[in-house]
Amino acid sequence: MPSDVYQFHIFAPKIRYMATNRTFTMIKPDAVENGHIGNILNMITEAGFSIKAMKYTRLTEAQAKAFYEVHAERPFYGELVEYMTSGPIVAAILEKENAVADFRALIGATDPAEAAEGTVRKAYAESKGRNAVHGSDSDDNAAIEGKFHFSAEEVH
Ligand code: UDP
Ligand code: MG
Repeated sequence: MPSDVYQFHIFAPKIRYMATNRTFTMIKPDAVENGHIGNILNMITEAGFSIKAMKYTRLTEAQAKAFYEVHAERPFYGELVEYMTSGPIVAAILEKENAVADFRALIGATDPAEAAEGTVRKAYAESKGRNAVHGSDSDDNAAIEGKFHFSAEEVH
């Protein structure tokens, strides 16, 4: 095989991979209310994530309903929308190699009682519902959720 063709096969997957090295997060109302913004951001940057976009904001009911639309049929949906609109949040787009999976590992299980030692939810979440932080579950959702909160001009 000619070396230039070989190199194409080596590098093409990496280029696709690099394009999806972002995830989306929210520091949720309980963590903001409990004064954990600084500590959580510190855990995030210490873990090697860089901040591409960030804002301190508060979700409207319509925004929270739309953001969690996928859970609309679940019994906790109403409570989730109420909680997510109960106070301000920090929304951010983060970048790192393997961002989605690494960020899910950093935040830990949905229920802090099941979250591993050293994770954000273990350290700061109150309960399975009020669990301190959101992390996208796929590259596709990371892109959708990032665009939900930020225009192209707000990403740096
Ligand atoms: N949630 C809840 N009760 C449940 C499951 C989830 O209140 O039994 C809330 C919780 O805030 C969670 C969010 O709904 O973070 C979204 O649920 P998901 O299963 O996507 O968990 P996550 O991806 O946030 O770990
Ligand atoms: Mg989820």
